[in-house]
Amino acid sequence: MKKIIGIDLGTTNSLVCVWKDDKSTLIPNAFGEFLTPSIVSFDKDGTVYVGKTAKERLITHPDSTYECFKRGMGKKTMYGDYSPVELSSFVLRSLKEDAENFLGEPIDEAVISVPAYFDDKARKATKMAGQLAGLTVNRILNEPSAAALGYLRGVKECSEDEFEEKVILVFDFGGGTLDISLLETFSNVIEIISVSGNNMLGGLDFDKAIASYFMLKHDIRQEKISQSEYNSILKAAENVKKELTLNSKAKMMVRTPNINKDLEITSSELIKISANVLKKISAPIQEVLRQSEMSMDDITDVVLVGGTSRMPIVQHGISRILERDDIEVVSPDLLVGIGMGVYAGIKERNEKIKDLILTDVCPYSLGTSVYNHYGKRALSSFIIPRNTALPVSSTHIYTTVNDDQKAVVVDVFQGEEMYADQNIKMGEIQVDFPSPAPKGTPVFVSFTYDLNGILVVDIEVPYFGIEKNEVLIDNELNQTEEEIKARIEILNSFRLSSRSNAEDIQIMEWAERLFPLCSNRDRAELSRRLDFYQNDLQQEGDPIKRKKIREYIRNYLLALELMINHNNQEVSPFDSSWMEGEDKEIEKLFSDWDEDNNK
Ligand code: AMP
Repeated sequence: MKKIIGIDLGTTNSLVCVWKDDKSTLIPNAFGEFLTPSIVSFDKDGTVYVGKTAKERLITHPDSTYECFKRGMGKKTMYGDYSPVELSSFVLRSLKEDAENFLGEPIDEAVISVPAYFDDKARKATKMAGQLAGLTVNRILNEPSAAALGYLRGVKECSEDEFEEKVILVFDFGGGTLDISLLETFSNVIEIISVSGNNMLGGLDFDKAIASYFMLKHDIRQEKISQSEYNSILKAAENVKKELTLNSKAKMMVRTPNINKDLEITSSELIKISANVLKKISAPIQEVLRQSEMSMDDITDVVLVGGTSRMPIVQHGISRILERDDIEVVSPDLLVGIGMGVYAGIKERNEKIKDLILTDVCPYSLGTSVYNHYGKRALSSFIIPRNTALPVSSTHIYTTVNDDQKAVVVDVFQGEEMYADQNIKMGEIQVDFPSPAPKGTPVFVSFTYDLNGILVVDIEVPYFGIEKNEVLIDNELNQTEEEIKARIEILNSFRLSSRSNAEDIQIMEWAERLFPLCSNRDRAELSRRLDFYQNDLQQEGDPIKRKKIREYIRNYLLALELMINHNNQEVSPFDSSWMEGEDKEIEKLFSDWDEDNNK
């Protein structure tokens, strides 16, 4: 049986999992880590960096490094010369490579999760990204469904019996999106009952709120600073946010060649700073309950996932909204990925889980526009209302409004707005009549929507015996085979940076970021140490020693970063007291080498 990989393509981090040895298994990247930052950076020589190394380059190469592009999926937004689909394809390529390395076999099939709130265009864009990365995307799964699968089958390892009568609220708060879903489980079925959310709300909004507060306190105007400086402030804001997850106060430190400022922030200040972000959490929770006609008491389990769910103020906020204190926070960063590993197993029809059934709902309404007798703007007519269980087929009967009408145009949109033009238009289908039709001629419009998010539209005009059937494909992404091939060729001309020396590349990028922030004395010292390290890299040396030297230089950079952040005072990499035994050994090697080179 061909292996299928399960991918959580996140706004901030991505991960890949596989069903192996009867369980969902996380696959490590070249750094031995499970989370790969969804960041892509291009070098002039045609090398593409993905993940941790690209993250270092956000500050040193802001013009060719891109993040948070998932927010642009399905939109026309471009990031430099690249579309969000293309940037995502590099992340997928990197994950595919990690999986191939881990499993020792080529992989060309995947299942990928997307926020439940992703519209049709964004889902198709995700599939296209897979295609560009050389992966056939077997199925797109909503992240909350993946989280529930991960919770029940990956973490709790529930047997089918335990599936009975659970109502689970999944609160998935990531870097860029908030998804809330209500699921019901019974026998071997996991059924999504309703979903809601906000695809413009996430951890980054807390970072931005903190950054604005910092700039306000220090009278820094955003339009007066460079993108790279703003990125440094955002990075410092994210660090403070994370520190406030552990402590009640934290110091925000921004060090750039032009900005050298600190600000102490407490947890209670964070509540005030981010009040506007916190306020937006409640609405989608209320909405899923309202839509499912359930009350808070019906909920048996609350599962928090997504990195932002780690924030105590977020957890506290949810406890207050739901009026309960038994909220479970399980591997918030990994759960969706773990669920995708389970799902990959289901898709492979693995014996252990092949009978598990996962139902889904349509996360948005699908409809057409109808004539508005009392105004100019056409009204929405919903054919498949939001949260209808999938697959679904539904027919509505409309009538022509004018005498002698020669055609009807059925436009198709998705969204919840009363006026059709406020929703997202997915396409239109024109049906020409062979002769003018009298007013009131019936037109039957059927929408069939399947689990893969493919919409089929059937239009029937019995008066003329006309039947028209069309699979709705989004024009913007509907590239021809040749166009896709040509684009794949261009994208393939970029090489992913090598896995084998990924750590060394990341170390050099890290050093490059710190270098301009160092004093002259530290720059000289850093260069010497990098020389020593490079010198070892060039030799066919002992791999154990190489590993130790790498660790040593990492520790040195870490100490240097701490020192820079603490205004060159509290920790000094010259003071070898921070070094452990092995580091001291390498320090001795370095001193000997240094002496030899300075003779
Ligand atoms: P995700 O999209 O699920 O990977 O979530 C990433 C988001 O979680 C980012 O905005 C991170 O800043 C945030 N995050 C990760 N760890 C923490 C933490 N310990 N405390 C607060 N936020 C965190």
